[in-house]
Amino acid sequence: MTEQLKTDYLIIGSGAVGMAFADVLLHETDANIILVDRYPKPGGHWNVAYPYVTLHQPSQYYGVSSVELSTGKKDQVGLNKGLSDLASGQAVSAYYDEVMKHVFLPTGRVQYFPMCDYKGEGRFECMLSGKSYEVESQKEVDATWLKTSVPSTHKPNFHVDEGVNFIPLNDLTKIKKAPEGYVVIGAGKTGIDAVLWLLDNRVDPDMIRWIMPRDAWLLDRENTQPGIEFFHSTMEAQAGQFEAIVNSTSIEDMFDRLEACGYFLRIDKNVRPKMFHGATISRAEVEALRRVKNIIRMGRVQRITGTEIILDEGTLPTTSNIVHVDCSARAVENEEIVPVFQGNKIIPQMVRSYQPVFSAALIAHVEAAYNDEAEKNRLCGVVPLPNHDTDYIKFTSAFMMNQYNWGQDKALSKWLLGNRLDGFSDMVAGVDRDDTEKVAVLKRIRKNAPMAVMKLHQYLGELG
Ligand SMILES: Cc1cc2nc3c(=O)[nH]c(=O)nc-3n(C[C@H](O)[C@H](O)[C@H](O)COP(=O)(O)OP(=O)(O)OC[C@H]3O[C@@H](n4cnc5c(N)ncnc54)[C@H](O)[C@@H]3O)c2cc1C
Repeated sequence: MTEQLKTDYLIIGSGAVGMAFADVLLHETDANIILVDRYPKPGGHWNVAYPYVTLHQPSQYYGVSSVELSTGKKDQVGLNKGLSDLASGQAVSAYYDEVMKHVFLPTGRVQYFPMCDYKGEGRFECMLSGKSYEVESQKEVDATWLKTSVPSTHKPNFHVDEGVNFIPLNDLTKIKKAPEGYVVIGAGKTGIDAVLWLLDNRVDPDMIRWIMPRDAWLLDRENTQPGIEFFHSTMEAQAGQFEAIVNSTSIEDMFDRLEACGYFLRIDKNVRPKMFHGATISRAEVEALRRVKNIIRMGRVQRITGTEIILDEGTLPTTSNIVHVDCSARAVENEEIVPVFQGNKIIPQMVRSYQPVFSAALIAHVEAAYNDEAEKNRLCGVVPLPNHDTDYIKFTSAFMMNQYNWGQDKALSKWLLGNRLDGFSDMVAGVDRDDTEKVAVLKRIRKNAPMAVMKLHQYLGELG
């Protein structure tokens, strides 16, 4: 027997994106919502996060618009010292639980269906009871599009022979007896986290071999801090970024300049990064990572046997007493781009670089406040996800176009100013017009932004 349900919005996925979207709808419309998810709790991939995970960007602009996540503290110790707090995975999970229980459900307008598998065409099934549901909705929101992939649930794209000591980074905390060594596979955010956690737990850097198929450009976390006290690091980085683009004479020169002005960091100054996933890191973390000297740059892993790790460009010896740590999942990984608004379907994607939750909130606001679909899609131009170094050019120009369009719309500018997830509009608005130093930084940004867009378009043309 299938139960029939009716709602205004059917949201598939109660991860960070689905929750940020639902929150804005609840506060800006009187719509009813059904949220469906396979996980037992809201928060998506945070349900299966590794025990030592934290956000890599400040908590101030993560979560849902209406509820603060940050404790308001700055870290006093550790590798994030002096910077805004980074919520732990447990704190993020508890936060989403709280938002669901104390904000969403008490409105009486939300029906939440955890442990349910969405089958398409408005139908879903409870994985515990087998009961099926059919929903008649005005709009369907696909909050699963980014296809976040984490080590504990993904399947590596290489073969691992039976008997190999191979674990997701989640299981490092289960180790009871020190192995001969560790091989960390992957150089993205999770690879960085695994290495930092081992070092933090006093593992000798020489016990670690780090397989790094591509080096990555990294973002300096100090440049992403919200609040007027960080005006100089955050806004100087913006000004420096635009100047680096404008003054560059080639794509390679642009990356050199972006590094020289402190916008980009890299672990090894002698290796030119080919990857860019938007991972955000402190300079102290970069210093710590540099203690690991056994960096393996022999391409991707193809297979791990009992005695060898076979890579694209050679093999490495291994044994069953070496722990191979899988950090090869790519977090947000769907590179396909489609229009956000498609009739009665909404597909939240990134509209500001590195900001999935802000993007979902803005898309929900546009859904609530605008009628014309072409205008809605114009305001929500999709910013492509970065993968290769040169993707920086594509997504920065797309994001700058969006930022320009938002700035032309007075009502939207006002909304941005009042939205918690937009960490930066209020920083700019908070500048005292008599503060000549800060005003000068803002002038540099305004002066260079249009020329930066033109230069990025030139480079896009060169890339074909
Ligand atoms: C380690 C880590 C750290 C991060 N740190 C930050 C940070 O500091 N700042 C930041 O902005 N972003 C950060 N991110 C990115 C961010 O947390 C999210 O990954 C991103 O916003 C994507 O969220 P999502 O809701 O699209 O994905 P998910 O969390 O994967 O949620 C999608 C949901 O859809 C459900 N679903 C999928 N298919 C179905 C189906 N058929 N039926 C029912 N349910 C379904 C899934 O169960 C899941 O709950 C981080 C990501 C990772 C992995």
